[in-house]
Amino acid sequence: MVRSAFRELVVGVDAKVPLHNGNWVTSINMDNAATTPPFVQALQEIIQFAPMYSSVHRGAGYKSRLSTELYENSRLAIANFVKADLNHDTVIFLRNTTEAINKLSYRLCDDTKKSVILSTCMEHHSNDLPWRNKHHVDYIEIDNDGRLCLDDLVNKLKKYKRSVKLVAVTGASNVTGYVNPIYEIAEIAHQYNAKIFVDGAQLVPHAQIDMKPFNSPRHIDYLAFSGHKMYAPFGTGVLIGPKETFMNGAPEYTGGGTVRTVTHTNVVWDDPPNKEEAGTPNLMGVLSLQAAVKTLSMIGMQNISNYELGLWKNTIDNFKNIPGLQLYSDTNPDKPRIGIISFNLEGIHHTLVADILAGETGIAVRSGCFCAQPYVRELLKISEKKESCIREHRTHSRPLSRPLNRPGMIRVSFGLYNDFDEISVLVQALHHIVNNKE
Ligand code: PLP
Repeated sequence: MVRSAFRELVVGVDAKVPLHNGNWVTSINMDNAATTPPFVQALQEIIQFAPMYSSVHRGAGYKSRLSTELYENSRLAIANFVKADLNHDTVIFLRNTTEAINKLSYRLCDDTKKSVILSTCMEHHSNDLPWRNKHHVDYIEIDNDGRLCLDDLVNKLKKYKRSVKLVAVTGASNVTGYVNPIYEIAEIAHQYNAKIFVDGAQLVPHAQIDMKPFNSPRHIDYLAFSGHKMYAPFGTGVLIGPKETFMNGAPEYTGGGTVRTVTHTNVVWDDPPNKEEAGTPNLMGVLSLQAAVKTLSMIGMQNISNYELGLWKNTIDNFKNIPGLQLYSDTNPDKPRIGIISFNLEGIHHTLVADILAGETGIAVRSGCFCAQPYVRELLKISEKKESCIREHRTHSRPLSRPLNRPGMIRVSFGLYNDFDEISVLVQALHHIVNNKE
């Protein structure tokens, strides 16, 4: 057996799960785009610090002062991980990426008129719906492979005559795994006076991201990501952006921790990040996120990316031999991506495939639309169009049967602890499903 060298860094990868027949097998988790299991070190950090557990920013005792110091130092560690500059930017700790995007949408809202935000046709709902609440949103189109059209970005920036406030784009898609050219997008957006927000929920755990100096045209203005997708426990997310964005006006959530002085008639808000972190901070979450980041850095993001792309390539090579397997992304290894693959099996509903994988082999994948319904629908349409073109040239081929109700796909998403052996089990299981259908 060839095991991943990183396997022992992660908790619970060899945990047993029950099958439909009642037997228990070692689980195979290929649903890392949803949530990664935590690093051992991220949990140990909590245990080790527990004796000093105390409230941040709220006590004069030794433990409380230490808690505050470590909490504040974590901002620097997180900033360094993505090369943000704390002279210019602030690191705000929140619950997750979704909360971060909602906060940014609130912050960028102009009470007098709706500003234009360019999102894209490939976003997770979390980088789409929060913008719709308060802004006019338009969507950058995708091409025939489902990748972002930079030409359309330029067209839309021109169409709105330099009035686009922000281009909100995912760093990597949670459906196709495509990595967007964020630095190029930043450069284009800045030429039109727009800022860029990168949803880093999928990219940050799997590749090096560099926010770049704020006076560089390729600078990433805003970035958000979630701890639970990068081997830290649930409950800690990060929003990074220029301090000045958060300086003026009242924060979205007010209360303890957000203020300098309060009278019954007046409030003086604290500076960011405190102003944006209402209530008692999640110290243990932040410390374990910092420990996770330390472990990722120790392994090296380039090593992680190389390893996971090896898993992707091996899977794609094997998938090509499975009859009736429909992929929804391009397979060019030279195009930027992370280790995510979405597919369907001809004539078998995606939920059934996912259920069989879980119940007969202990493999966890996800099925459905992955909180990206517009993108999944578009990819299904593109694929349907391509198939009908092929059918026109092959008189004897019959149409692939599509799931009529509840459209969707099956998604495999790798983490650094997944193995080539696990891919073999997946491929065998899919062959078995195809061979035994009906
Ligand atoms: N953005 C992308 C690309 C995602 O894949 C996800 C979660 O799957 C999110 C945002 C939302 O992350 P969270 O649920 O941690 O807020």
